Amino acid sequence: MSTYQIEIDTTGQYAELRRGVRGLCARFPGDYWRRLDADRGYPVEFVAAMTEAGFLAALIPEEYGGGGASIAEASVILEEVNRSGGNAGVCHAQMYVMGALVRHGSAEQRERWLPPLAEGQLRLQAFGVTEPTAGSDTTRIQTRAERAGDEYVITGQKIWTSRAEYSDLMLLLARTTPLEAVKKRTEGLSLFLVDLREVDEKELTIRPLETMINHHTTEIFFDGLRVPAANRIGEEGQGFRYILDGMNAERILIAAESIGDGGWFIERSVAYANERIVFDRPIGQNQGVQFPIAQAYANLRAADLMRWQAAALFDGGSSCGAEANMAKMLAADAAWEAANVCLETHGGFGFAREHDVERKFREAKLYQIAPVSNNLVLSYLAQHVLGLPRSY
Ligand SMILES: Cc1cc2nc3c(=O)[nH]c(=O)nc-3n(C[C@H](O)[C@H](O)[C@H](O)COP(=O)(O)OP(=O)(O)OC[C@H]3O[C@@H](n4cnc5c(N)ncnc54)[C@H](O)[C@@H]3O)c2cc1C
Repeated sequence: MSTYQIEIDTTGQYAELRRGVRGLCARFPGDYWRRLDADRGYPVEFVAAMTEAGFLAALIPEEYGGGGASIAEASVILEEVNRSGGNAGVCHAQMYVMGALVRHGSAEQRERWLPPLAEGQLRLQAFGVTEPTAGSDTTRIQTRAERAGDEYVITGQKIWTSRAEYSDLMLLLARTTPLEAVKKRTEGLSLFLVDLREVDEKELTIRPLETMINHHTTEIFFDGLRVPAANRIGEEGQGFRYILDGMNAERILIAAESIGDGGWFIERSVAYANERIVFDRPIGQNQGVQFPIAQAYANLRAADLMRWQAAALFDGGSSCGAEANMAKMLAADAAWEAANVCLETHGGFGFAREHDVERKFREAKLYQIAPVSNNLVLSYLAQHVLGLPRSY
């Protein structure tokens, strides 16, 4: 596979893996993603190809048939998808949602679910945490799970549960003990694996949400949904702790997607700035055009260093909350800067669908807000790293 003109990671690390992902992504060029974006379609063929290549099972331990990859390797896979002009958001969660099962599931649950996930026979890429009223304050979620014999009965509502229509299983966070009855707000939340193939339609309704990007996100209503108690992951009441564990992995992977986006924007900017002649010279000859591109490139490279540091800490088993959060924030900001620069470099043509810039521009914005907003990252750093007073 040909290499890109501009490499963001110049160390040549993971060259073979990058080549493999690039080869696959080359089969799904801009017009594939453009068409899906226009039709709000799901990239069935792309996801099937990623599954078949084993990329989406990269983080599942080898003993269960997965790739046993490091987070650094997994991050390269998602980076390359976005770097190619595609959008890893359509399937990235298949890679990391199962982490809760690996880390906190019982031996029986792991045996039951991980091999078919690794094989690509099962999809676990829906993660229901956010609720309309609680927003970023996850401890205030109101979806309740009440024990009834060997089942839990779930009532409530989630919003922004992405890919629920394209998932067999959903990881769900619900309150098992009311907020008023717990000592710490983070207690009394539990994690469940909901088998969406088995649910009674009267007990669960999925409504697609239209958004500015093609993200297949939904709101979900639970009306007495019965879930076997055997599908609870880990101990009752400890679910918040379990999802926190998975967040560092998610942050690092999202950071890598942003780095991929940024690389795509910068390469497109450079190509266009070299080609487009106005006033008898390439527009890139003007410092007013080239400096913003160079600045965005420098910021992207700097953000990428934080991504590698976070990944190295994660893979070495060290705590990496600060680094994973900073990597997500810096990479999302750097990608957004590069997105703006790319659109401006293209002038009016930046708005034309055929260049893909406006699509990638919309897609890149998401990661400043989800899975956690950059403000919340700053609050975390201020409080937990710098020792400033809690602001909320
Ligand atoms: C396309 C899309 C896909 C998503 N997919 C999923 C998914 O699959 N599963 C899931 O569970 N969630 C998902 N989300 C939800 C996402 O994680 C939340 O949107 C995000 O965490 C922000 O929460 P909120 O939208 O409720 O914003 P709010 O919490 O209402 O915040 C609104 C604004 O206020 C700011 N703010 C809030 N509190 C503070 C504070 N204390 N200090 C400073 N600023 C503050 C925030 O930074 C934000 O800018 C998705 C969201 C989108 C848009």
